[in-house]
Amino acid sequence: MIDVERGEYVNNVVILIEHGKIIQVGSGLAIPAGATLIDLKEATLIPGLIDVHTHLLSRSQKIGSQNQNYILQLTTKSNEYRVLEGAANAKAILEAGFTAVRDLGSEGSGYADVALRDGIYAGLVEGPRMEVAARAIAATGGYFPYRLSPQMADLPRGAQLITGNDEARRAVREQIYNGADVIKVYADFLDVASPNTTNFNHPTLTVDEMRTIVEEAHKGGHRVAAHATTREGARNAVEAGVDSIEHGTAVDHETLVLMAKRGVYLVPTSAAQFGSLETSKGLERDRLDLRFEAFRQELADARQLHVKIATGYDASDADKQGKNANELLMLLKLGFTPQEVLRSATTVGAELMGMREMIGSLEAGKLADLIAVEGDPLHDVAALLHVSFVMKGGVTATR
Ligand SMILES: [Zn+2]
Repeated sequence: MIDVERGEYVNNVVILIEHGKIIQVGSGLAIPAGATLIDLKEATLIPGLIDVHTHLLSRSQKIGSQNQNYILQLTTKSNEYRVLEGAANAKAILEAGFTAVRDLGSEGSGYADVALRDGIYAGLVEGPRMEVAARAIAATGGYFPYRLSPQMADLPRGAQLITGNDEARRAVREQIYNGADVIKVYADFLDVASPNTTNFNHPTLTVDEMRTIVEEAHKGGHRVAAHATTREGARNAVEAGVDSIEHGTAVDHETLVLMAKRGVYLVPTSAAQFGSLETSKGLERDRLDLRFEAFRQELADARQLHVKIATGYDASDADKQGKNANELLMLLKLGFTPQEVLRSATTVGAELMGMREMIGSLEAGKLADLIAVEGDPLHDVAALLHVSFVMKGGVTATR
């Protein structure tokens, strides 16, 4: 077993589990009479992995542009169907070794993520522990789908769109009432309005709107996650008091300092940004290389400042669901050590979910969420791509 916090091995480990909880962990412990024995032989045990930025309710196909794919998913699938897709995605991610996720937005399927979370909790379908953000909140016109005909005003949107403090407050209250655990906001987004303008990322929600959202969410102990891919968007969100910056591809040093001071987490979703690095060519490749290097430096700065970094794969396409461990490999390429990767995907993720007392490490008193891999992820993170055993709450996941 790897003790991810200390980066140490425990050999010949025995974990005693009762009623879904770990009651004792140690080397060579005696096995009580009458216990069910699961012998994992030479495998390496680690805590169940945690992905804090997923979209289990999204399974879009790659047909056209991202916006076109988004519109297609919204217009051709019922929410009922999307819950079924979510159930398949949930099983896939659990089998891949992720026993807990924070699902940051149902992408136009309303409260389907609440239904999936509750269905998993009730044991109706197999999947990870879920914290869900439900509809998410964006500024009016500030999220997918773009350029819909004005006659299509009633079509579902990818997020609950708001303008002003009253709508911001109402959206948070509604979403929490309907079952959201966490509130997701879009601090900035792409503008695709007119062919006469260049599309560029820019801040959308105001600091004031986000402050209202944070105030309303924090009242009931709900955290706020902010999508931010611009310098100003990230700074606005941190100023407003959010708990995590998602993507964070352009966070400046000043904002990182503030994040470290306030304990704001960073969730880089680096595979989603740089997954195409190996396959891209020409000018596109040059641009990606520059952005990658800038991000590597930003993350080095963040790590030096002790900004807490948790891992999220941001899967929303059919071909990405269940491949979440790819994010861990991308973080390695960005300069993380294997132990940093392991901690980001276990203890830090658990902390961001507010579940550190229950999950994230293998100790007496914690829930029995654990996985086994062949090989040693403390030296070879790629071992996490081949998970051989998954247990959540003392129950072995079926295949
Ligand atoms: Zn996302």
